[in-house]
Amino acid sequence: MKRDIRIADLCAGSGMKAAGLITVPGTSYELPLTIINGVEDGKIFLVSAGVHGCEYPGIQATVELARELDPCAVSGAVIFVHAVNAPGFFGRRAYVCPADEESKNFNHISPGNRNGTTAERVSAFFFTEIVPQCDLHLDIHSGDIVEDLEEFIAVCNSPDPKVVEYCTEIARHTSFTHRINSRGRTELYNASAIDCNVPGLLFERGGAGRVKRHEIDRDKADIISICRYIGILEGEPVDNTAAQIFYPRHHWGEAGHTGLFYRFVKTGDEIKKGQKLGEIRDFFGNLLEEIFAEFDGRVKIANNTLGISAGDDTFMYGSTR
Ligand SMILES: [Zn+2]
Repeated sequence: MKRDIRIADLCAGSGMKAAGLITVPGTSYELPLTIINGVEDGKIFLVSAGVHGCEYPGIQATVELARELDPCAVSGAVIFVHAVNAPGFFGRRAYVCPADEESKNFNHISPGNRNGTTAERVSAFFFTEIVPQCDLHLDIHSGDIVEDLEEFIAVCNSPDPKVVEYCTEIARHTSFTHRINSRGRTELYNASAIDCNVPGLLFERGGAGRVKRHEIDRDKADIISICRYIGILEGEPVDNTAAQIFYPRHHWGEAGHTGLFYRFVKTGDEIKKGQKLGEIRDFFGNLLEEIFAEFDGRVKIANNTLGISAGDDTFMYGSTR
C-alpha cells in the first residue's frame, strides 16, 4: 500500500485527492493546497504559484489542474500550493505579502524563520514541512502587475552540477523557447535546491496583471509535460531540445533614482551594448539617470509604470553569448 501524504492537517491517502486551506502553525496564515496522491509509486512533484500575488496565469493553471487531474492516472503525487501569497493575491499587491508585519517578499526570505515575522514563519513551514517531501519543485511566476515579460524558464542554482543537468533536461521538455540558469539563491526554487537538495525550476510567463487564456493553457500543458517526463503521468512529453535557446548571461537593472520612468525598448527587442534603454526624470523634466545596455542581448522583462522608486527593477535582458 502506498503511503499517505500529509501536510499539517491535510492528508491524502493512496488514490485520493485532498484539498483545503491549511493554517501555518504559529500564525493565522492560510495556505490553499491540493494533494493528488496516485495509486502507484513515483515521484512527488511540488507546484507552487502566487509567491507574488498578482502573477495570475500560474495561479489559475494550478486551480484548474488540481480539479482536472485524476489520482488514478497519477504515479507518485502532485502537490499544488495555489497561492503562497494569498493575502497579496486578494489584496492586489505587487511583490510583497501584506499580511507580513514588515511586508516581506517571499522570494527574499527563503528558507524562512520559525520565530520570525508571519511571512518568515510561512516560509519556514514551506521549507520544513512541504519541500522535503518532494522530488521536484516548480515555482510559477510571471511578470508582476508592474512588469511586461517575454516568457522563459529558469533552472535552479544548485551547487550540484547533476541537479542543474537534470533540471535542464526537464526544461527542454517544456514549450519554453528561452531558458536561463539562475545565479541567485533567494527565490523559492533556489532555496529548494540549495537548502533542501530538491531540484527546482521556475516558469515566467505572462505579466502586467493580465489573465490570458492561452498563457494559462500553456502553463498547464507544460506542467503536464513535466509530469510525463518524470513518469507521474503517462504519455509523451514535448521535446523542445532542438529549438530551446539558452541565455547563459543575464542582467537585472535597478533604478538608481525615484522619478518618472521612460523606456525606449520593449520586451522581445534585441539590444546592442551601449544602447540607451530608458531614462528617469523628475516632475520638472530634469534628467536624473540614463540606462544603457551593458552587453548585446534581448529584453526579457521591462518595468511598465511611469512612476518608479530607487531600487525597483527596470529591465532584465539576456544574452546567448
Ligand atoms: Zn514573481
